[in-house]
Amino acid sequence: MSKETANPPYERSQKETKRVKKPANFGKIHLVKTPRCGAKRRRREELCKAPAMANGRCRIHGGTSTGARTEEGKARARQGNLKHGYYTQEAIEQRRQDRKLLKQLRDDLKGLF
Ligand SMILES: [Zn+2]
Repeated sequence: MSKETANPPYERSQKETKRVKKPANFGKIHLVKTPRCGAKRRRREELCKAPAMANGRCRIHGGTSTGARTEEGKARARQGNLKHGYYTQEAIEQRRQDRKLLKQLRDDLKGLF
């Protein structure tokens, strides 16, 4: 491979180096007065004190998910791991009924001949 065909060194474009726009309330929030996380720390006997979310805990101590709340969400969660429905109660019962009917038909045929 010749030197001409090699890729030029990566240079950042003007667009990439642009700073991210600061939020409208930048500098207006009193950082000390914002709600703080009240989770207990493991090593030292004090609180976490990281900025809290709406639930009163920080992003790390937010707690585990409490699961789906809406009926739609619950229904979706129930369907989550269903692949083909072969082992659903309805399908099992349907096969049971079919077998029963087949056996009955076979027995009826036996009686005829
Ligand atoms: Zn925390």
